[in-house]
Amino acid sequence: MIKKLCGVLLLISLILCGCWKKEEVINDTLTSIRQKDILKVGVKTDTPPFGYLDKNGKNIGFDIDLAKLIAKRILGDENKIVFVPVNTTNRIMKLSSGEVDMIAATMSITPQRQIILDFSIPYHTAGQAIMVKSNSKIVSLSDLENKKAIIVFGSTVEQGLRSNIPNIQIIGYKTYPEAYQALKAGKAEAMIADDTILLGFAMKDKSVKILPKRYSKEPYALVFRKEIESDRFLETVNMELEEALNRGEIRQMKAKWGIN
Ligand code: GLU
Repeated sequence: MIKKLCGVLLLISLILCGCWKKEEVINDTLTSIRQKDILKVGVKTDTPPFGYLDKNGKNIGFDIDLAKLIAKRILGDENKIVFVPVNTTNRIMKLSSGEVDMIAATMSITPQRQIILDFSIPYHTAGQAIMVKSNSKIVSLSDLENKKAIIVFGSTVEQGLRSNIPNIQIIGYKTYPEAYQALKAGKAEAMIADDTILLGFAMKDKSVKILPKRYSKEPYALVFRKEIESDRFLETVNMELEEALNRGEIRQMKAKWGIN
């Protein structure tokens, strides 16, 4: 009797499992993107050269071109894309809530983030660096002991810095332009961020300099919701990304935006 009951329960669970799987395939993210014929991507609007706006308010930058490449591959047209502005602080929320299908916004793969998010293969490696005023005497991270440093909230720098230099006074901002303006206004001795982001500011400004040392490796990747429905989307993006890397397309895009 007990054996029979177990058998029936097993059968019911297998049927339920089968139905659930069927629905999962129908509702997956890639299918829904293809049905809507539009890809929604979270991008930065103030982080040159990765994601920013031209003088007509058009989204431009390396991450924008990368998102267009993905749209072209999965929808056949690089313009079938909606760019949703995100910043370091709100990008995970915009992805989790479904406002965007994917993030392309200078986001590093980290073990903590991998607990709640899925990442594509990396497409660029940045490194944390220190930017100071040109006449500054600061030459390394240890010089910032008991001094003030500017960071952007939610970035990988925030966590690393607190554990490396416990006595540092951190001043946080929501966006990189705000952080940069604060450094220029003398609110702190240094600004710490990814070298590629700092370069976007320092390239046009002789009053600041980037110190030579790098304090981390920041592998940038496209970011996805960690859910079974987004698995096929992630696999497809990874395939396209791998091909673009092998064909040298990513290298050409980096050269276009002055990224090393
Ligand atoms: N790559 C770093 C991060 O993912 C900093 C860049 C950013 O704030 O977007 O936190």
